[in-house]
Amino acid sequence: MNAVPQDDACDVAIVGLGPTGLVLAHMLGQAGHQVVVLEREPVFYGNARAVYTDDECMRIFQHLGVVDELQARMMMETPVQLVRPDGTPITQYMPRKRPFGWPIINFFYQPYLETTLSETLSRYPNVDVRRGREVIDFSQDADGVSIAHQATREARFSDSTDARTSVQGEADARTIRARFMVGADGGRSVVRTKLGIEMAGKSFPEPWLVVDLERKTGTDALRHLPYFNFVVDPKLPVVSCVQPDKFHRFEFMLMPGETKENMERPETVRRYLSMFVDPDQFFVKRKLVYTFNALIAAKWRDGRVLLAGDAAHMTPQFMGQGASSGVRDAYNLGWKLDLVLRDQAAQALLDTYQSERHVHAKAMIDVSVLLKNVVSARNPFATLLRDASLGLIRTIPPLRRWFQEGGFKPMPVYKKGTYLGLPRSHRNGPEGALAPQPEVRLFNGARQRIDDLLGPGFSLIGLNVDPSRYLDKASAETLKALSTRSITLYPYGGRPQGLNGVDRDNTNGTTEVEDIGGEMIAWFGKAGFSEKAVAILRPDRFAFAVVPVVELNRTVARLRSQLGMQRLGRQSDLARDSVSTLSVAKAA
Ligand SMILES: Cc1cc2nc3c(=O)[nH]c(=O)nc-3n(C[C@H](O)[C@H](O)[C@H](O)COP(=O)(O)OP(=O)(O)OC[C@H]3O[C@@H](n4cnc5c(N)ncnc54)[C@H](O)[C@@H]3O)c2cc1C
Repeated sequence: MNAVPQDDACDVAIVGLGPTGLVLAHMLGQAGHQVVVLEREPVFYGNARAVYTDDECMRIFQHLGVVDELQARMMMETPVQLVRPDGTPITQYMPRKRPFGWPIINFFYQPYLETTLSETLSRYPNVDVRRGREVIDFSQDADGVSIAHQATREARFSDSTDARTSVQGEADARTIRARFMVGADGGRSVVRTKLGIEMAGKSFPEPWLVVDLERKTGTDALRHLPYFNFVVDPKLPVVSCVQPDKFHRFEFMLMPGETKENMERPETVRRYLSMFVDPDQFFVKRKLVYTFNALIAAKWRDGRVLLAGDAAHMTPQFMGQGASSGVRDAYNLGWKLDLVLRDQAAQALLDTYQSERHVHAKAMIDVSVLLKNVVSARNPFATLLRDASLGLIRTIPPLRRWFQEGGFKPMPVYKKGTYLGLPRSHRNGPEGALAPQPEVRLFNGARQRIDDLLGPGFSLIGLNVDPSRYLDKASAETLKALSTRSITLYPYGGRPQGLNGVDRDNTNGTTEVEDIGGEMIAWFGKAGFSEKAVAILRPDRFAFAVVPVVELNRTVARLRSQLGMQRLGRQSDLARDSVSTLSVAKAA
């Protein structure tokens, strides 16, 4: 690796520009770090894979400032159903609540999502995307990672097949030096392989044919398929996926004796499509037989190298959670890398990335496997059991409501003892769980989602109290270093008022808002507080703590300690660990 020219240095090198790499590049770009993204494909690969994302990811896109562009091209609040072969619904998943401020079911077209995230990266001159560069090797030492990359030797250019084509020209091998490297390089991750990290879990033998369609203009050929359908038919399990604009996808399970070659033949595809739509009204954009994996890497961090997204876990697509899990990884990792790079947290903070995310990603894999089993059941006993269970869900109102609202979906709640935050005060305590996102009313009557007021760092939310008035000097300094914003939350109609006893000046400049729907007031209530309490939220809006405001300084001290901030003050060597030092060392 030393024989090839070294180009430059950066804070973080991201390997791979799929959904995971894109979100991480936005997070670090927003935080002002020098980022280089190395992506193997010279041009955007352009084929749809993911079609669905949820409210938690919409909240992340909101944080990145790209949600308006993305939602403009999504089909939101589309019911998901299990249907009989004739299309009549058996049961529906159609949540109406919006605990995190966004609809829970959102369908999209992956090329739209990825190109929007990619184009909006141009906001950050500090993010340098290098396409057509594949990472071939790397090594790390105490200060950083040296990464060898070269011009891509084989790439995908076609929109209709996944075939790889040789690329002519010089390999132009180079190295780059980064303080951290993140392998967001997909299921076949070179980064993971080079680290020798094993994946645990299962690959499923049942292949499915995935057919992506584009409706011809001037036709209304999908009117009879307004919702997302799992067709539970023992003779042929099928998934019919809605997508925005003129796109649609079908997935057909291969029956015993069927081959990949035969399934991908145009006449076979046409025969299968004819069961649901008029094939003449569509262009077939892609047809490909896939198998699915339910795998998770044993280790997500090795020193200064981290794995994220499909490189760390692979989820069968049935719950639509593969890309969403990667988006959550990038969000979790992004703010932690930011604090470590700014010397506001010890490197040990990066260990909480896996301890927090692993359990949740595994839970998503498990529920996806369960749904796969429900949809693809063919054995008569299994189908009998399934149909009886679905019958119960349909006829018993609390069960029906539980299903409709998605009670089966793992909640964004980290496992006890694994997360950065105070220990959970009781079983359903708010610590280590994602806080709700209410719509709040400002003094001038304007409505806003609360996250838009919180900004990218930590936040203090005082219940009927201005928390900033309770901070001692040390706490104020800590919170300033963590870019903390402070908000006072009142119930709707519950602002201080009247001629007596109300301060007429908000001298601390704390934003004061009313919780219109009462979701966050109720959240404080569940934690045991009706007033004079404060929540410390992490940048990802998971609660670090909810405590009486008089305990605020003690709690900030615990935050300081969990982040390892005291230790950092004593470790002058970490302060020297910067991009400029790396550049000097490299040049010497
Ligand atoms: C049929 C199907 C349907 C799906 N449906 C859904 C869904 O509805 N919802 C959902 O959330 N998920 C879904 N998924 C899963 C989802 O597509 C993946 O989980 C997601 O794309 C993973 O994102 P990623 O960024 O981690 O990896 P990828 O999207 O695989 O991106 C990795 C990137 O790394 C690049 N790369 C690889 N090696 C190198 C290297 N050595 N050097 C440089 N670059 C490299 C690749 O070119 C690629 O661009 C589906 C998947 C399939 C196959």
